[in-house]
Amino acid sequence: MFLDDLIIVKHQGKQFIKDLTKASLPEIFRGIPQISDKAINAQELIDFCPTAAILLNKNKLAIDLGKCAFCGDCQMQFPNKITFTNQYKMATNNRDSLMVYQGESKEIKVEASLIRKEIQSIFNRSLKLRQVSAGGDNGNELELGACGNVNFDMGRYGIEFTASPRHADGIVVTGPITENMVEALQIAFEAVPEPRLFILVGVDAISGGIFAESTALKRDFLNKVHIDLYVPGNPIHPLTFINGILELTRKKYRR
Ligand code: SF4
Repeated sequence: MFLDDLIIVKHQGKQFIKDLTKASLPEIFRGIPQISDKAINAQELIDFCPTAAILLNKNKLAIDLGKCAFCGDCQMQFPNKITFTNQYKMATNNRDSLMVYQGESKEIKVEASLIRKEIQSIFNRSLKLRQVSAGGDNGNELELGACGNVNFDMGRYGIEFTASPRHADGIVVTGPITENMVEALQIAFEAVPEPRLFILVGVDAISGGIFAESTALKRDFLNKVHIDLYVPGNPIHPLTFINGILELTRKKYRR
C-alpha cells in the first residue's frame, strides 16, 4: 500500500510551480495577441468580433484586451492576421496599455510611475484581499480561488483572500457590475481601511464584456474610485493575477 503511494508520488512529480514569475504556459493558452501587417478588409475583422474589441484607433487596427473575451474566433477566422501568444503577463495599471496595435510585439506591465507611493511601502510583504463578485459567472472567481491552491500557492508571498472587507487591504472585483450589486460593492469598498487597493479582474469587470450594453449594469461606481490594477482574461489565469499583484506591490518583481 505504502509502496503504491510512493509510485503515485513519483509519477506525479512535484505539483507546485517553483517560480511563478518564470513559469511558462502551453502554446494553446491565449495570452497577448499579435496583429500582423498582412493586408485584409479591416472592416470585416472589426465586424467579426462579438465584443467590439477589434477597432481602428489612431488609424491603426487594434485589439482592446479590456474588451476581448479571448474566444479565439478571430484567430480561427483570420489565421494570417491574428495570432494569440501564450504570454500571460498582461496585468497593468494603465488602461491604455491594454490596447494591442497592428505590427506590435506587445509587452504589458505594471508601470512604476503610476503606482501610488503608499501602496508599495505598505503592501510589499503582506496583502489581504476581499473578492466581490458583482454579477460574475464564477469563471474568474474559480481562477482566483485557484491562486491559493497547491500549484500556485500565492500565500507564499503573503497574499491571501480574506472573508471580511474589514480585514482586507483591497477589493478585487469580478463580473460586469450589475445594478443590484452596486450597493454591496460600495459597502464592501468603504469597509476596507485606507489606503486600499481596487482591482478589476476579467473582461467583464474591466469593460462589461459581452454584457457592456445591458441595462442591468450600473458601472458609474468606477468613476468614483482609483483603479490600481486591470487583470485581463476571460477567465483570467492565476499566473496573470499573481504576477500583476507582485509587480504592483513588490519592486523586485517589476519588469
Ligand atoms: S478573441 Fe477577442 S478580439 Fe478575437 S473575436 Fe474573440 S473577443 Fe474578439
